[in-house]
Amino acid sequence: MKLAFKLVSVFMVSTIVLTSAHAYFVIQRQSRAFEQEAEADAEALAGSLEGRIPQVLQQEGPEGLAKLVHNAEVYSVTTRVRWVWFDAQPGTPHSPSVPPEQLQAFVVERFVSIPAQGSDGSRHLFTYCPIAVDAERKGGLEVTHPMTKLEQEKREVIWQTIRLMVSMLVLTGGVAVVLGVRMIGRPLNRLIEKTHRISAGDLSGPIVMRTGDELAQLGNSLNEMCDALSASKQRVREETEARTAVMTQLRHADRLKTVGRLASGMAHELGTPLNVVSGRAGLIASGKLSPDEVARSASAIQAEANKMTAIIRQLLDFARRNAPHRVEADLWRIVGDTVELLGPLAQKQNVAVRLPGDREPMTALVDPAQFQQVLTNLIVNGIQAMPDGGEVRISVETELAAPPGDSEVAAREFIRIDVEDGGVGIAESDLDQLFEPFFTTKDVGQGTGLGLSIAYGIVQEHGGWIAVSSQLGQGSRFSVYLPKEPRA
Ligand code: ADP
Repeated sequence: MKLAFKLVSVFMVSTIVLTSAHAYFVIQRQSRAFEQEAEADAEALAGSLEGRIPQVLQQEGPEGLAKLVHNAEVYSVTTRVRWVWFDAQPGTPHSPSVPPEQLQAFVVERFVSIPAQGSDGSRHLFTYCPIAVDAERKGGLEVTHPMTKLEQEKREVIWQTIRLMVSMLVLTGGVAVVLGVRMIGRPLNRLIEKTHRISAGDLSGPIVMRTGDELAQLGNSLNEMCDALSASKQRVREETEARTAVMTQLRHADRLKTVGRLASGMAHELGTPLNVVSGRAGLIASGKLSPDEVARSASAIQAEANKMTAIIRQLLDFARRNAPHRVEADLWRIVGDTVELLGPLAQKQNVAVRLPGDREPMTALVDPAQFQQVLTNLIVNGIQAMPDGGEVRISVETELAAPPGDSEVAAREFIRIDVEDGGVGIAESDLDQLFEPFFTTKDVGQGTGLGLSIAYGIVQEHGGWIAVSSQLGQGSRFSVYLPKEPRA
């Protein structure tokens, strides 16, 4: 409606400007015609008196001249004629009615008409006709025409113009408003309503406009756009459904693979100690062992039982991990505690665990015990990757990052904890299965293959993830990403 209103306003303002300009030119023309008429009158009068004036002035003096001029008034009821001396002081009998400063500029002309206020207060046109009667004084006739008629005509023109303007505005404005609203306002409103529906996701209900103009074309284009959008929406829906089905199948296959690996891992991990337990128990049961040998076998059984208990505990940790109990904690403190705990193991392997010298406190909402377990697993792996000793470096920084595999999520601030070693590195073919339970490349008794999968699970429950970069023979870096402000 605003556009229609603007168009109608422009139309109305143009009408007002045009009719006003027309009135102005009419008034100008009338004024000019009045002046010309007055000048023609004055010229005719002056022409008739001019010849007699010098003679009358010489014979009868100024009184005779006044009489002659006075008699000339018969010429018209409203026109007055006076003899004036142009140099007479204002207020004296033969001074011009127009103030001297106004007259000064014109006295050299043969005829001059000056509109001014007369002695009665109303507007008059004073026409001056210089007549040479005296070599020393400049005099002439002052013919006065009242401008009342002209003023009346001007007023009449103004009123006519106003009447014309009002009727034009009412008539054409009314028509323009009706047409503007019907032809522009309403169709535009329908188009706007359609675009709102499109932006709200409703592509149904094509817009039908029979105006046959550009707005109707726009409506058709919107309909075509909606059709194209609906088609591509349908395509995306079908593709998403197909992808979801494939993903479900893959996840199912993956779960089966994990269960299989879990079962074979369990069989492998528990099988060896159970063999030892069964063998030693058989020996004791045979009754052929000396008391010393019985004691040694019993210790061996106890050691294997402890090993199995540890494996089962790890398995339970993996399977029945409790929800993290998060508190605000300084990550550097947890790192420090873990490094201290692992000190003897690192020393035994001739590995130095290095932390940067300037450590700003870096607080995050974490479960300190679970997070310590993550760090322990990563640091132990780093230590074990360097059989000939070396250095494990730990750093904690913030980074703008987006979770992997989710390109639609905007990057936000994460805390990144790097555990880096200069060890044997990881083969590219192993990188895919690194976090799967029971995946291990270590010898029996050295590793269970649960460390990284437990660490990953914990970090994931904290809203983060672990990234790995590694080069065979050069070392590996495990980066733990934790959200700076965890989402509710
Ligand atoms: P485990 O250490 O008991 O084998 P993990 O889940 O901790 O189980 O590790 C799985 C495998 O990942 C390891 O067997 C090893 O091959 C590889 N790995 C983990 N960390 C490193 C590392 N820092 N350097 C080299 N290989 C590593």
